[in-house]
Amino acid sequence: MQSCELAATGFDAWPLLLGLAFAAIGIGVAGLMLRRGRRRGALFAAAPLLLVALLASGVQAPSSSQAEARPALVASTSAAVSAAISTPVSAAISAAPCPAAGGPAPAPAPVPAPVPTGAPAPTPSPAPTAPPTTTPIDFQPGAAGIGDAYFPLDGNGGYDVTHYALDLAYEPTSHVLSGTTTVTATATQNLSAYNLDFDTRASDGSGGYIDDIAISAITVDGLPATWSLATTEISDATGQPLEAGSTDGTATPPRTELTVIPPAGIATGATITTAVTYAGVPVTIADAFGPAGVFRTDDGAVVVGQPRVAATWFPSNDHPSDKATFSTRMTVPTGLQVIGNGRLASETASGASTVWDWEMDQPMATYLATATVGDYTITEHDEGGISYYNAVAPALFDKKLDGGSSVGDVATKIFNDEPEVISFLSESFGAYPFSEAGGIAIADFGPTPDDVLPYALENQTRPIYPSWAFGADADAGTVVHELAHQWFGDSVSMQRWSDIWLNEGFATYAEWLWAEHQGGDTTQQAFEAAYANPTGSDDPADDAAFWATAPADPGSAGIFDGAVYTRGAMTLQTLRTEVGDTAFFTILKGWASAHAGGSATTAEFVAYASSVAGTDLGAFFDTWLYEPSKPSLD
Ligand SMILES: [Zn+2]
Repeated sequence: MQSCELAATGFDAWPLLLGLAFAAIGIGVAGLMLRRGRRRGALFAAAPLLLVALLASGVQAPSSSQAEARPALVASTSAAVSAAISTPVSAAISAAPCPAAGGPAPAPAPVPAPVPTGAPAPTPSPAPTAPPTTTPIDFQPGAAGIGDAYFPLDGNGGYDVTHYALDLAYEPTSHVLSGTTTVTATATQNLSAYNLDFDTRASDGSGGYIDDIAISAITVDGLPATWSLATTEISDATGQPLEAGSTDGTATPPRTELTVIPPAGIATGATITTAVTYAGVPVTIADAFGPAGVFRTDDGAVVVGQPRVAATWFPSNDHPSDKATFSTRMTVPTGLQVIGNGRLASETASGASTVWDWEMDQPMATYLATATVGDYTITEHDEGGISYYNAVAPALFDKKLDGGSSVGDVATKIFNDEPEVISFLSESFGAYPFSEAGGIAIADFGPTPDDVLPYALENQTRPIYPSWAFGADADAGTVVHELAHQWFGDSVSMQRWSDIWLNEGFATYAEWLWAEHQGGDTTQQAFEAAYANPTGSDDPADDAAFWATAPADPGSAGIFDGAVYTRGAMTLQTLRTEVGDTAFFTILKGWASAHAGGSATTAEFVAYASSVAGTDLGAFFDTWLYEPSKPSLD
């Protein structure tokens, strides 16, 4: 790239130098003759040489590099124009083929031979070549999935997102979400079209669909684009596209692929800015992984879920292997709060509305994004270089526990322990990967046990906890688990959903470390108890089913199976026994550091651990992570 630009703008000195050389010879010859008193001879000798000097320096032939530049521009005209329509600057640059990089061959113009003189300078005489030809760019649509076998429609091909800018409003009475999401991405292929995941549709109960969210406009780099929606039924049980003839697909909303057709092809390497404007009431997912999405509450909404959640409220490349920074602006009625990821950049009240602007400056997987709306009791403080921002739903203070305290009281107390937990985990995992931390303790969605969120989630910098995490006898275990995910899951994300033990095995191991730190079982005792009876069940069939699941390939329906968590943690304790404490904690810290802000695979972890330990651990990990049976301890 750099060499191409220099060739196009470079300055050629050789004709000028040639001219100066002839001029010097002419003046020298004339001077010699003058000194010998031959004035007329000096004139006749010097004049032709001076004339040649003038011709050589003034009537320049096109230099080879200038000649290269012109055909390059000609050859790239169609691509540059088409790209410039969609992406005025970057696409045009990337579309202009660089001759040095294999673009259309340049055709150097012939250099006129100088007038013969007594001292002719050598002149290059390039062979004539054919006129420049145009090589059309082959623009193709990006793939509808990013290539994850567990969830083949999740994510998309052909581009890499760098930033999401959500500028939305939420109306808690109607639950309408509206506004514009702008997705900034880099094309990784020449694109004629590309997909975003945006679950705008729900089943109507009779084989058709209703549009929960209506898209009103899409622009690509500021120009109107066209789009289409393709909807696929998804199995409740597996998260996979529904098999033909199966009826297992009534609870979870279908996956909808939004195909964006830009006004012109987009070249590899170009920046694509896609702005999608929409409004509607987002669907809530209910499948074998639990409820997820935008939950409607009395005073707002809770946004949480895994693996599917992001596409229910913003168009995205919905897969943890494509992380991006986020700006989340949410407008809500004044008096309500919006709690998002990262830092609160501004909170601007304007009459009846307040705009909350949350900035997540480090890459984040889409499922970790939240913009939870409602009435919350906020506490903030800075400690150890980390800004803490905690939110507790006031309703939790009305939820009394035995002994007179409340769920809200317990949540507040455990949130106060966050700096201690983060300090402790940092000893094992290395420095906390973000500059913000905190948590959101949400109210129950309704009066029955079914109205309580059945899981806590490690939303980046700001995990979300339901009321059961703060019961009368609750310790910090759940908070330890979600804070450990800030290293393993959030900062270092899984490349594929089959790698989820890299999240859950590590977070479970963090709970074991914390329990030991609190005077409970050692991690080895926790391992031995789990090895003897991993499910805690009296039914041997339950343990047999546990051991039949491979933590590093649990199947799409098994990503939250106990083996992913407990056998994952057991794998780490066995690794610790195998390589010793020093190498083990060097592996944990080095892994967190080496892939901070990125996504990684199990194979990369195995290779990394082997390199630190100085021995091939492939067979060890095969046994613990991939064998569908109970590993022997021999
Ligand atoms: Zn977890």
